[in-house]
Amino acid sequence: MESIGVLLVRRLQPYLEQELEKRYKVFRTWDYPQKSQLLSHHAASIRAIVCHARAGADAELIEALPELEIVSNYGVGVDKIDLNKCREKGVRVTYTPDVLTDDVADLAIGLILTLLRRICECDGYVRSGQWKKGDYKLTTKFSGKTVGIVGLGRIGVAIAKRAEGFNCPICYYSRTEKPESKYKYYPSVVELASNCDILVVACSLTQETHHIINRKVIDALGSKGFLINIGRGTHVDEAELVSALVEGRLGGAGLDVFENEPHVPEELFGLENVVLVPHAGPATVETRFAMAELVLGNLEAHFLGKPLLTPLV
Ligand code: NAP
Repeated sequence: MESIGVLLVRRLQPYLEQELEKRYKVFRTWDYPQKSQLLSHHAASIRAIVCHARAGADAELIEALPELEIVSNYGVGVDKIDLNKCREKGVRVTYTPDVLTDDVADLAIGLILTLLRRICECDGYVRSGQWKKGDYKLTTKFSGKTVGIVGLGRIGVAIAKRAEGFNCPICYYSRTEKPESKYKYYPSVVELASNCDILVVACSLTQETHHIINRKVIDALGSKGFLINIGRGTHVDEAELVSALVEGRLGGAGLDVFENEPHVPEELFGLENVVLVPHAGPATVETRFAMAELVLGNLEAHFLGKPLLTPLV
């Protein structure tokens, strides 16, 4: 397998890069000043791409690699991969579902608790010695609040189960109603936002879900409502979100993802009703290892002619 060329389009965790290095001839886009240079020299030997939430495989790249057989995504969101082009070219696509679900759902709950109970602010209060001058102000209770979930998929369900443990009534909006679910369905995001205290975005990013959280949804959530985004940054119209937070039209936001990562609107930095996380949903040692093993396992299965472990296309 050492002669098989694998293209990395973005830095991965060191373990995964090292394991790929042991097995394949690895090409890294960042080793070349111009992508065209890499492609003109090595396009014919690249048979696999390993990509990531922030750097995928677009139609141009897929077209430029005549020997490409498989795209292995180190993550579950495949919005940066041109799936139609892959289908058209007969290129297989794999991803890493399930193994990261718990971590992302845990982080969603962590964002809710941190936001409502102002845990970051409280920490600063103690460290700066202000506690000696008096108690921290009262915060907001989480248990029992109604949680609305946009996208009742693997991660959405895992968030719902955790929120149930806090005695929260659960409702949702998804592309399709889930008759088997005991949670209340609303046929639009605006209706969902009007009927919950905490709105959690956990759907996949498609043309339909781009800016699914717009001004109308934010206004429906209102000044006592909280928005949590652990999906993708472009699910939310960020300019509208920033205005709503600055103007006090939204109660608060817990954000793991942003429209233009790693750039975050500076207006958010001074707001205490905002919690910001650097796209770290599945960023634990355990989960990153499991994701890496799936990437390696899928590539190995493909090149040995065995069934893929987690195929998407
Ligand atoms: P999943 O099981 O495929 O769930 C995706 C959900 O999105 C489904 O419930 C689907 O609805 C819903 N959806 C799709 N199109 C929709 C639309 N037009 N309107 C409303 N809902 C729609 O995927 P998952 O494993 O739960 O992951 C969900 C997403 O989380 C990923 O795509 C990824 O972008 C994001 N994610 C983020 C992180 C992070 O680090 N923050 C980590 C992992 C994943 P139906 O069930 O009705 O089809």
